[in-house]
Amino acid sequence: MKNGNMDEQYIRECISTASVGTQYGEFPFGALVLFDGRVISKRHNESLHQKQVYRHAEMLALIDAQKILTPDELSQSTLYSSVEPCPMCSFAIQELNIRRVVFGLRSPVMGGYTKWPVLQDRQINDIFPKSFGRPPDIEPDILKEEVIRGWREWNEEKWLKFVAKGVFVE
Ligand SMILES: [Zn+2]
Repeated sequence: MKNGNMDEQYIRECISTASVGTQYGEFPFGALVLFDGRVISKRHNESLHQKQVYRHAEMLALIDAQKILTPDELSQSTLYSSVEPCPMCSFAIQELNIRRVVFGLRSPVMGGYTKWPVLQDRQINDIFPKSFGRPPDIEPDILKEEVIRGWREWNEEKWLKFVAKGVFVE
């Protein structure tokens, strides 16, 4: 399978994981870490029902992956997420030296790429090359329409409010 098709397959997995999270009262965010063609970790948001603000899908998937993979393996891994990672998760992606970041929906108000340049920042990599390596390659807008469909199926009214506020761009 071509790289693009593989990317779509894993974003689709993120979308279905995000949907599982909504059963716990979470917003539909899902993420996974891929290394060497294997899904190492896959998580949805847990911040609302666990009452722990950092429990974003990406952060939890990264924490799981850090326990399983070596730093060298993390530096060859891809983080997939249904929505653009926030600045907190983006910093963790940089600190773990993740190789690629693939996501569906851009987040112009909350994103660590479109809003704040955390993922593409080079200064921290230049100062700490051993731990931060180089910034990840970014692949946005993968299966964006399917991510949007997932949000609309979850809650059409809330989705439209987010769009009206510019949180997400259709
Ligand atoms: Zn986050």
